[in-house]
Amino acid sequence: AQRNHHDAALRDRAKRVIPGGLWGHLNAANLPAGYPQYFARAEGCRLWDVDGREFVDFMCSWGPVVLGHHNPAVEEAVQRQAAQGDCMNGPGPVLVELAETLVDTVPHADWCLFSKNGTDATTTCVTLARAGTGRRKVLVARGSYHGAVPWCSPSIAGVTAEDRAHLITYDYNDTASVEAAAEQAKGDLAAIIVTAFRHDMARALELPDPAFAQALRAICDREGAALILDDVRAGFRLHLGGSWEILGVRPDLAAYSKAIANGHALSAVTGVERFREAATKVFTTGSFWCAAAPMAAAVATLSELKRIDGPAHMRAMGERLRAGFDALAARHGVAIRQSGPAQMPLMLFEGDEEFRFGNAFCSAALEAGAYFHPRHNMFLSCAHGEADIDRALQAADAGFAAVARLG
Ligand code: PMP
Repeated sequence: AQRNHHDAALRDRAKRVIPGGLWGHLNAANLPAGYPQYFARAEGCRLWDVDGREFVDFMCSWGPVVLGHHNPAVEEAVQRQAAQGDCMNGPGPVLVELAETLVDTVPHADWCLFSKNGTDATTTCVTLARAGTGRRKVLVARGSYHGAVPWCSPSIAGVTAEDRAHLITYDYNDTASVEAAAEQAKGDLAAIIVTAFRHDMARALELPDPAFAQALRAICDREGAALILDDVRAGFRLHLGGSWEILGVRPDLAAYSKAIANGHALSAVTGVERFREAATKVFTTGSFWCAAAPMAAAVATLSELKRIDGPAHMRAMGERLRAGFDALAARHGVAIRQSGPAQMPLMLFEGDEEFRFGNAFCSAALEAGAYFHPRHNMFLSCAHGEADIDRALQAADAGFAAVARLG
């Protein structure tokens, strides 16, 4: 039998009942040859597919898994809460504990509210900014991802021009383009939304230029608009106080999700005093948004991240991976370009527009036991230790050898 026959059989059955095999970003059709679609189990930084193959995981569910899969402290908190009650007629006391924790952890936060997905949080930020300013225009960086609903989806299928009527685009790290966009919105500027760093798919990652970040803050102050930090992807991996703390630039509103509850469904909006009233007026809610178990997961996750200084650990492991990639690439005579924060790294091959090298690297490394991504930033977790990184670098060695063979 084929080595991936369970995965193949599931994909076959899915074809009939699930459009395209799978919706959205986790569809393995977008991945290099050999990548599994279905997983049986995950523990720490390891993943097992339905055919029993084991991988060192460098996607961490595309961000949520920050402490490691199935973290004991988090799972225990979830089970304790779930045994008491999860989805009730109102939140559990854990809501207040979590809100206090977040307001204490994130310096700009005077208040917070919770939802399920990153898209809920970014969309709520935009609505709050409009409600609080009484204005309509929102500046968005070209190519930035903020979620999967019509105002921000990367696909235009089913989207009308009206859905995006009040968006004006600028270029990330290009202050002049933001000034021009703000000028166009003059008198009607509700917000500028920006991601923690530039992480557009399939190109090198770019850290924010501090002068750019300061300029966004200054433009929002001058125009009376809200600076919205979309920290959904980077939040709590780079810095527990928000990803722009290192730049000394604080937003008015911020969106978090992914890493907040180590894989349990939760997102958050934090905000400054000025938008508290708007946050009481906007009708933002959902059937599952007050569920208590994911909130217990978040309290445990934030507490663990603080206790072990998660961001520092992930940075050290990311740097170890990066140094290993550099050494292996040199040994195999292959030119690579590494970018992004070490906790969320990306490795591209020089002159590899079609991702021929990237795909060959990933397929061979997967075969040898490491789950990397050729085009999207990867994610370290606190469960990655030095031995795991070294194990993954052995797999990467096979990947570089495959690229060298392609020449
Ligand atoms: N903003 C950013 C920066 C993201 O990376 C994502 C998810 N990849 C989202 C928003 C949307 O989050 P979700 O998929 O949870 O709706």
